[in-house]
Amino acid sequence: MVKDKTLRSIEDLVAAGLLPAAALAELEPVAEQFAVGVSSQMAAVMRSRDPDGAVRRQFVPDRRELTVTPAERHDPIGDDAHSPLFGLVHRYPDRVLFKLVSVCPVYCRFCFRREMVGPEGDGAMSDEDLAAAAAYVRARPEIREVILTGGDPLMLSARRVRTVMAHLDAIPHLDIIRWHTRVPVVAPERLTEDLVAAVSRSDKTVALAVHCNHADELTGPAEAGLRALRRAGVMLLSQTVLLKGINDSVPALETLMRAFLRLGVLPYYLHHGDLAKGTSHFRTTLAEGLDLVEALRGRLSGLAQPTYVLDLPGGAGKVPVTRELIAQGGVRTWTGDWHAYPPEAGS
Ligand SMILES: *Cc1c(COP(=O)(O)O)cnc(C)c1O
Ligand code: SF4
Repeated sequence: MVKDKTLRSIEDLVAAGLLPAAALAELEPVAEQFAVGVSSQMAAVMRSRDPDGAVRRQFVPDRRELTVTPAERHDPIGDDAHSPLFGLVHRYPDRVLFKLVSVCPVYCRFCFRREMVGPEGDGAMSDEDLAAAAAYVRARPEIREVILTGGDPLMLSARRVRTVMAHLDAIPHLDIIRWHTRVPVVAPERLTEDLVAAVSRSDKTVALAVHCNHADELTGPAEAGLRALRRAGVMLLSQTVLLKGINDSVPALETLMRAFLRLGVLPYYLHHGDLAKGTSHFRTTLAEGLDLVEALRGRLSGLAQPTYVLDLPGGAGKVPVTRELIAQGGVRTWTGDWHAYPPEAGS
């Protein structure tokens, strides 16, 4: 039964009726460069309730991905510059990332780590990697938060999640464990009782930032999964990527933020599109993004206002997008350093 399986190739998408046969030759070069993955849940949405193609365009490969602009790069947010151990990224003094796995339930065509994720990506952290990362945190009391990411960390089994949580729970100075995942939305069937219990079982504050870009992604099972996490005491936050032709309109963003709030998910970040290779057709300008965010101010509860941020290339971190940043062509970050944006090609 094709329906219950992740579609992993152009051939699979053609067989599932989501692409015409003619797409095989046309899109194969795209699939050779970037992983393809459409979960059964997202395939079902595309078939039944995707009037504007807002879901389809996030996951179905497109010829335009072969166009790489001079500013685009392999590691758009500069993770490599701050990675002292395999899988660990330490950019800010008080928090670190663990990139637990490099696989995802879907492969988003705009992914900021698109050259690191997928079946041929960086790979998962082993037991030794995990122990080394935990020891790194344990030795640094200034680290208060561990962010579990990937790929998608909820691709792990409940058993593996319990192991990760046990490592972190044993570090006294940690206050917060934060999951970054797309699973509750795109593969809600993974959120079994066992997995929800494993994700939430800690005396520390457990937060979960769910990646979702359009209200049409939020199916009944996704809503049920988010409710289960909330009942388990998880602090739910949202993460949305601003995407041209998908959610770059006031109604699309307003509907999405209202849906988050209704589900007990506090809107956290609206990300400006990163300079990942072959993603220019998804990027708005900063000014367009700022206009949208300002329009939301008058329309939505203060609780439903995401912060519009840009992750600076080279590893300098996230900064809020402002009129000053746009006018000055750059920004001074918390370290006092000046960073131009857009960056010079290849820098
Ligand atoms: C985004 C990110 C974080 C988290 O930043 P917040 O602003 O706390 O959400 C932490 N470390 C790295 C390397 C990041 O890219
Ligand atoms: S789920 Fe996240 S890491 Fe995975 S492909 Fe999508 S954007 Fe990239």
